[in-house]
Formats: sequence, C-alpha cells, structure tokens
Amino acid sequence: MATDPISASVLSLLRDRDPAIADLIAKEADRQATTLELIASENHVSPAVMHTMGTCLTNKYAEGYPGARYYGGCVFHDQVETIARDRARQMFNCRFANVQPHSGAQANTAAFMALMNPGETFASLVLKDGGHLSHGMKLNFSGRYHTPVHYPLHYEKSHPEFERIDYDAVRAVCMEHKPKVLMCGYSAYPRIIDFRKFREIADACGALLVADVAHIAGLIVGGAHPSPFPHAHVVTTTTHKTLRGPRGGLILTDDEELAKKIDKAVFPGVQGGPLMHIIASKAVAFGECLKPEFKTYARQTVQNARALAAALIEKGFRITTGGTDNHLMLVDLRGKSDQLTGADAEKWLEAAGLITNKNGIPDDPRPPKFTSGLRLGSPALTTRGLKEAEMKSVAVFIDTVLSAGLKGEGDLAAATHQVREQVRAMCAKFPLDG
Ligand SMILES: *Cc1c(COP(=O)(O)O)cnc(C)c1O
Repeated sequence: MATDPISASVLSLLRDRDPAIADLIAKEADRQATTLELIASENHVSPAVMHTMGTCLTNKYAEGYPGARYYGGCVFHDQVETIARDRARQMFNCRFANVQPHSGAQANTAAFMALMNPGETFASLVLKDGGHLSHGMKLNFSGRYHTPVHYPLHYEKSHPEFERIDYDAVRAVCMEHKPKVLMCGYSAYPRIIDFRKFREIADACGALLVADVAHIAGLIVGGAHPSPFPHAHVVTTTTHKTLRGPRGGLILTDDEELAKKIDKAVFPGVQGGPLMHIIASKAVAFGECLKPEFKTYARQTVQNARALAAALIEKGFRITTGGTDNHLMLVDLRGKSDQLTGADAEKWLEAAGLITNKNGIPDDPRPPKFTSGLRLGSPALTTRGLKEAEMKSVAVFIDTVLSAGLKGEGDLAAATHQVREQVRAMCAKFPLDG
C-alpha cells in the first residue's frame, strides 16, 4: 500500500473527487507491494522520482529547447531541462543529450528520422530473436517507412557461441546490404554487447552505429556493462528500465552535427511540447544514477541475475546461452517439459505472486502468443533489496509452481497457495521505498 505522505495525500484527494480511480491506484499499489516483479524492463522508482512527475511542471508548454522556446514563461523549465541534459551527458560521458523523447520508441523514431531518409535500409536483430519492435517490425514505423535487414544469432546448438550474436554474419549482412544504420541493443539478450566490434563493422560498410541501450542503460551508467561510447554514433535509451527513472526516452551523441539533426527530429520532427514534469523527474533520477550507491545497485543487479540463472539451472531449467552477463535471462521451458509454454508459465506464476512475461527464445517453434520461453529480470527485485540468497528462494518458488502445474490442477492449486504466502512474506521483509 502507498504509505508515504504524498501518495497518501493523492489518494485522499481522489477519494472524494474520483473514487473509481482512487480505488484502482490503491489496489495497484498493493499489488506492487505484495508481488515479486521479475519483468526485466520494469523497476520501482524512488519516491523523489515518482512525485516529481506529479508537479505543476505538467501545466507548461515549452516547445523548443532551453533558451529557444516558442512560449513565454519557460525560465524555470529552461533550467530544469539544462540540468537534465547536463546530468545525462555526465552519466554517459558524452557531449550531447536530448531528454525530450516521450518513450524509447519515440527516441528511436527521432533517431531514425535524423539519420535516414524514408525507405532507406538499416540492419538490426529481429524481434523474435531478442530485438525490439522499433527495430523493424513490419507494423511499426521502423518497418513501414524503412527497409530492415536482420542479422542472425548463432543457431547451431554445437557452436560455442550458441544463441549469441554472430558477428561474422552481422558483417556479411552489412557488406551485402550496405545499410545506412546498423542497430545494436536489444530487449531480450542476456550477454555483453561488443560495441567496438559493431563499430568496426559499421565503418567497414559505411553505416552509422546506433546503440539502443534501453535495457542496459543503468548497468552502463553503474559500470556493470561496457559503454557504447565512444563507439556508437548515436545512443538511444529508455529512462524507466534499469535507469530507474520515469517512463521516457533519451538520445545521446558525441557528434555536434548529428546532435543538431537529432534535436530537429525530436522537435518538431516527431513530437510537440515536451513533458516538463517528466523531464524534471528524469533529472532527479539521473541525479540518483550519479551517486556512488547506484554502482552498487548495478553490480548487485547483475549478481542477482547470475544467481537466479544458476539456481534455475540447478533445478533443471535450460537458460539460453547457458546463463547471463546482465540483468535478464531467457528460460527455455522445453528444458523442463515439452508441454510447458511461456503463456502457461506466465499465468501460473502470476497467480503465485511472481510477475514475469512469456518471451520467444531464439528459433522458437511456438508463435508469440504462446512461446517456449520466459524472460526473467533482476532490476526491480534488486531495488527492493533482494540479494543472492533470496534469488535462490525465488528459483525454488518458480520451480515449485511450474513443476506442480505440469502434474495437474490439484497440485498447481496447492503449490500456488503455498508460494503465494511465501512471496507475501518475502515482500513484507523487503518493503518498497514509499
Ligand atoms: C523497451 C525498449 C524500447 C522502447 O521503449 P518504450 O518506452 O516502451 O517505447 C526500445 N528499445 C528497446 C531495445 C527496448 O527494450
């Protein structure tokens, strides 16, 4: 339950004015407090980040950039956005930042607009192998207005790099198609990305390298994953995943000419007025990222993911690539049973208070509605204070529920009840901050 004074006052304001929404917010606060969040793209923001979003900065139109706005009254907004940009540059040790994208997908839209003309070709990893829908899915702008070509992973089981990026194939695809942009950075890839190698390939084929670090931005800032700088020409990211800020996007570069194009692409290219309350909250989150504690958080996030992967392997699960270097892992459920789908696993675990998402695994024979995989991540649990010992318990919870589910409905009901109580107890021991 939201117990901090500001959340409580929001709820009491709404109780009179909009009881339907107040009730749902209270229920959602309780859900978050009493379940374990294993979705790799989610996190719990601090009360400072949370409540900065709920301020009067939302009232302002500030189209343009600091010092060059299309509306009066922006003096404090200019200062807020300047602080956000400075902190973003400091976090990534780069020269230019645009903090206005409303989301990660918007950041990619703007980056594409800045770097490519309509119809031009870019290379990326396909969605089903761990890429993102904004990297060329046919219903997305990226697939409709540009021409994606996809590079593969290693799909041969016997290969030592099985399920990892096939850099030789990336090079071959790029030399064949000569893309304008080479994209790296993924939504479901558990290993270190070799940005230096990607840049070599980009240089060899004459492409600009875009690193979409939406998932791993917090690990990069915290020193737990190599930085895309100085290798990438442009870096895009979300601010709400491992970066632990408000929902939003961010674009970074070291190149002054590209920075100008990016600013024009964000506004007026793809957006109107910036969300100044969100930009203020980004600034607060970036301030948190720059503190020494954030390094500890990033390191612990990786250690927790490794501990969870190891404990699941011990329980007989197969983890793609054999483990993880970052904050997430993909469980190949067929390692447990050919009958088990990602859709069933997600549903059974949710009933026990373990929140996950079904996810395709490389070369998945099942369609996205079912999948053979489950994606698990440690960022939110690490924020909550869980460490390696608790990761072992979480692996036991997962195994208990899924093994029971395979036995039948009676077993599943009993296991769900038992694990739900154990999850509640663990949540009570590691309460959310606010
Ligand atoms: C999450 C994600 C995004 C998009 O983020 P939204 O804020 O949901 O638009 C973009 N790229 C990658 C690789 C992601 O994982």
